[in-house]
Amino acid sequence: MKAAAFDYVKPKALNEALSLLEEAGEDARLIAGGQTLLATLNMRLSEPSVLIDITDIAELKGISVVGNNLRIGALVTHTEIEDSELVAKNAPLLKAAAPHIAHRAIRNLGTWGGSLAYGDPAAEWPACSLTLGATMIIHGPSGERRVSAKDFFIDLYTTSLEPDEILVATEIPLASKQEVFYFHELARRHGDYAVAGLAAVAQKQGDVLTNCAFTFFSVGATPVMATAAQDLVDGKKLNDELIAQAVAAARNEIEVIADITNSAEAKQHLIGVLLERGLKQMAA
Ligand SMILES: Cc1cc2nc3c(=O)[nH]c(=O)nc-3n(C[C@H](O)[C@H](O)[C@H](O)COP(=O)(O)OP(=O)(O)OC[C@H]3O[C@@H](n4cnc5c(N)ncnc54)[C@H](O)[C@@H]3O)c2cc1C
Repeated sequence: MKAAAFDYVKPKALNEALSLLEEAGEDARLIAGGQTLLATLNMRLSEPSVLIDITDIAELKGISVVGNNLRIGALVTHTEIEDSELVAKNAPLLKAAAPHIAHRAIRNLGTWGGSLAYGDPAAEWPACSLTLGATMIIHGPSGERRVSAKDFFIDLYTTSLEPDEILVATEIPLASKQEVFYFHELARRHGDYAVAGLAAVAQKQGDVLTNCAFTFFSVGATPVMATAAQDLVDGKKLNDELIAQAVAAARNEIEVIADITNSAEAKQHLIGVLLERGLKQMAA
């Protein structure tokens, strides 16, 4: 199948893109890397009247340190994140997660902002942004607004972005020297979407983890934080008994949804497997 006919525009500046978006209304779609959108157009799951190609907009590009935050522009590709020294130093969880996204050819085109805006619960970046306490910087007709990752992912493929808004960048607090992290996903083959995955960070002092953030993905309608498990572990000496309690809490608190090939029971089991491995690795 081929996409339905559409108009195509390529603005050079953010303000121009916002005006075009406002003019066209809900009938317009932004296109960044096109790695998700083109498939939905070709399958006619989406039939916009106009595509607004944002890939020439300088304001959406680049990775930089701004104050105590790492700023990642919406147009930064998965490959740029994977290869960035700034990311490796200041948000090492992202470097560890990047190779799990599809294959290099897709990572060369797919973007950080496209993945966050699409809000796929099986995707790596939404889970990582939640774990790292990211802030989304969004521009719309009335200017800039900032939304924490916790409030950004609302439901299945649904974020708090309005149709006339553009995700410009994300800010992530710089990793401290005490930060430990764990990223892993269980997938049938490398490059496939995960059956279940975990993006975790904590501050480590001796055998104690604090400021724990454990986000599971590909298990529910959005990435989900295991807050009961986090609270259990936080500030206590990590041992086998505490790990077993945290595993039980995480399995119990997350409302798991089955997908086309994996049962809710299998995913619930994997949540425990991932958390046990993650806690042991972070404690080591
Ligand atoms: C074979 C294959 C395997 C894949 N496997 C994985 C995987 O394992 N993990 C994973 O996470 N992803 C995977 N993907 C998806 C890939 O990561 C996409 O790159 C990503 O989901 C979307 O980024 P994009 O830049 O291509 O967005 P696009 O396809 O251009 O856009 C996606 C959506 O986001 C909107 N959008 C884009 N940018 C913005 C913005 N700045 N502001 C507001 N809205 C915006 C668009 O309007 C559209 O609705 C896979 C894709 C393919 C084709």
